[in-house]
Amino acid sequence: IVQLYVPLNWFGTYYRSIQKNFIDMENMFDLLKEEQDIIDAPGAGPLVIKRGLVEFNNVTFNYVPERLVLKNITFSVPAGKTVALVGPSGSGKSTIIRLLFRFYDVETGSIVIDGHNIKTVTQESLRRAIGVVPQDTVLFNNTIMYNIKYGRLTATDADVIEAAKGADIHERILTFPNQYETQVGERGLRLSGGEKQRVAIARTLLKAPAVILLDEATSALDTQTERNIQDSLNRMCADRTTIIVAHRLSTIIHADEILVLKNGEIVERGKHEHLIGQEGIYAKMWKQQLENNKDTSSAETSLEQSTA
Ligand code: ATP
Repeated sequence: IVQLYVPLNWFGTYYRSIQKNFIDMENMFDLLKEEQDIIDAPGAGPLVIKRGLVEFNNVTFNYVPERLVLKNITFSVPAGKTVALVGPSGSGKSTIIRLLFRFYDVETGSIVIDGHNIKTVTQESLRRAIGVVPQDTVLFNNTIMYNIKYGRLTATDADVIEAAKGADIHERILTFPNQYETQVGERGLRLSGGEKQRVAIARTLLKAPAVILLDEATSALDTQTERNIQDSLNRMCADRTTIIVAHRLSTIIHADEILVLKNGEIVERGKHEHLIGQEGIYAKMWKQQLENNKDTSSAETSLEQSTA
């Protein structure tokens, strides 16, 4: 029975991973197809960011005609400030990020950076001005030096080392077999989730964008790693306009504004304390997370006790 079970189980896993890759490929083709619709306006000039004020004015958007995914979204992020997006899965948080990066054009309304409607500037300059720290960072099968330098290919090795220090990964890289020349990625040294996040932070530090889009990782890291990464993130985002899709509310307690999305609409907004006082969706989410944390910490404690 064991002999039969193992290969079948292996086949199941293998099959599911192919299925997943097909879905990913489909998404990629969709994206490419979609991107062709997005073209630079005739005579579009480069986006020059002086301060980094980001404004969404009455934005509506739909992927397919039948269903509005964003409805009348209006908010602004003053230069250097942080706005957090929270809400249930499918509420439209990532869509807001994709629109700002102009993977799609808005249906009605406008997205404006420092007074420039993003439809009127070149896509190349728009994407150069915005740094993205995704949930899961893809590494190239290349050296760790190249992987960080990808943030700004004209950077010098000294710039890369400086960025690595800022992202708190320099010391770690020095322990790699060939230090900065170590091959990483699928065919080289595999990096942990936390290390990959640090690579993304280092890349973004090199790029030095005025605006940062941060998609907080949902996958749990251990508490200490989490805290260290949070410190690097905070340093990176200080003085930069930041929009963060937040999954752990504890990381956005100090956000300048929190927008709570539900079915494509902003249903609550304000600072953490204000939203807690409202006893609405946000307050409920907050209570829920406190409960969950209690559960995991007591689970950890009992695990420690049982192994002690
Ligand atoms: P999550 O927290 O799960 O990432 P989210 O709040 O970021 O969710 P979005 O990814 O912005 O949600 O999705 C908003 C809605 O748009 C969802 O109903 C989703 O099914 C739909 N949607 C997202 N991408 C596409 C697409 N490429 N084509 C059609 N519909 C899409």
